[in-house]
Amino acid sequence: MKDIVATQRLFFNSHTTKNIHYRIQQLECLEQTLNSNIEILDKAIYDDFKKSSFENYLTEIGIVLHDIKQAKRKLSRWSSKKRVKTNFGNFPATSYTIAEPLGVTLIISSWNYPYHLSLAPVVAAIAAGNTVILKPSEIAAKTSFVLATILNQAFDPRFLKVIEGGVQEATELLKQKFDKIFFTGSTRVGKIIYKAAAVHLTPVTLELGGKSPVFITSDANIKMAAKRIVWGKYLNAGQTCIAPDYVYIDTRVCKAFMQAAISEIKKAKYAIKNENYVQIIDEGNFDRLTSLLNCSNIYFGGQSDRAKRYIAPTILNDVTFNDPIMQEEIFGPLLPVLTFSDLDQAIANVNKKPNPLACYVFTSDKKVKKKIIKEIAFGGGAINDSIMHISNPNLPFGGVGSSGFGRYHGKEGFNSFSNFKSILDKPTWFESSLKYAPYTQKKLTIIKKLLKNQ
Ligand code: NAD
Repeated sequence: MKDIVATQRLFFNSHTTKNIHYRIQQLECLEQTLNSNIEILDKAIYDDFKKSSFENYLTEIGIVLHDIKQAKRKLSRWSSKKRVKTNFGNFPATSYTIAEPLGVTLIISSWNYPYHLSLAPVVAAIAAGNTVILKPSEIAAKTSFVLATILNQAFDPRFLKVIEGGVQEATELLKQKFDKIFFTGSTRVGKIIYKAAAVHLTPVTLELGGKSPVFITSDANIKMAAKRIVWGKYLNAGQTCIAPDYVYIDTRVCKAFMQAAISEIKKAKYAIKNENYVQIIDEGNFDRLTSLLNCSNIYFGGQSDRAKRYIAPTILNDVTFNDPIMQEEIFGPLLPVLTFSDLDQAIANVNKKPNPLACYVFTSDKKVKKKIIKEIAFGGGAINDSIMHISNPNLPFGGVGSSGFGRYHGKEGFNSFSNFKSILDKPTWFESSLKYAPYTQKKLTIIKKLLKNQ
């Protein structure tokens, strides 16, 4: 690993990756590699999750291909010199920033969207002109293997290298000095990454998890809320970082919502036998989730099959914040429903918990929208929808507090892998004597006036 990092550093120092055409070529190489291996990619993700090629395109490959297209089109503009105003005290001069790559970067990703969460940051890192070491999650073993195989064949390892492995390999990698670490995963491991990065003062982006609430008020369009929440919750069998974790609903409309949600689940025909529903990634997660079903709150669903790692879409009612299911991010197809009769109290209860990655509000009341957005700190979210904010590349994506920090997607991804170097460019035909000794009262008065008017 030491050697791989050293070769990448040598290559980065040759300035090759600073060339815009080189970056576009590499993005094209990634695009071609994905397009020409789509069947292998489909098969691997099916083997890991039973994820269909439809969903693989919708939530993984399609998004990465879109990111590549956008980066190719815009990266010249993103990396161009940006003029800013020069203050009076520096007159005459020009001032500008230039985006330059950070250097050798490390991307560690999680298993739940193994292509999307590995490759979206890779696209951003390449667009910004960095070299990349990618370590996908060992838990989605087939997709990790395919990523390593096809990318290591397609790319010069001095520029892009996939290293497979788990904790041991990640720990070894983290001993090396990187110029940026981009991590997607749990809050627990996020802390380990942050500590390791601190040793080298390496900047990090931490894309972590949390319990994302869904507020539903009495005036919400309940049918539409049920449709959009059910889709967001059971997509990838709930193994989505921004999945609605729990519903927090006005008591008066709770029953209507539950009935509408059940009807949506039935309409979607979620079953492990067909292409509409994925399985739980491994037995550890299956056991963790089924242990949460050991309660008397199951309102709908609750069936499971360990051999198939299948857990039915499940709704739990009469849940309170003290129940085991409300202690940690669920990351599975279990939807607890909690009720409130006082919105202020409900907001206060959510605010006692660590900062969510996402928050969703279903309401038709403008004041309620504003209130919830203002009074709860979360990474991002949607009003009258769930999950879909992630699909707008113009919306920066990331968390706050325990759900992480830093942003990516679109231009924000480029920014998070760039150093914006600030330059003041001065001609030599004029120089004011104000700042030079000998210091006088007269000079100080002029300086004070100038600073006041700036
Ligand atoms: P994880 O933290 O267990 O693993 C993530 C990565 O870290 C993997 O590549 C793993 O090999 C590596 N890793 C594990 N232990 C390590 C250690 N001790 N030292 C160094 N590296 C280590 O997370 P996970 O189970 O893969 O993913 C689930 C979590 O990720 C959930 O909390 C979910 O919300 C979060 N997540 C967040 C986002 C986001 O965009 N914010 C996206 C997906 C998942």
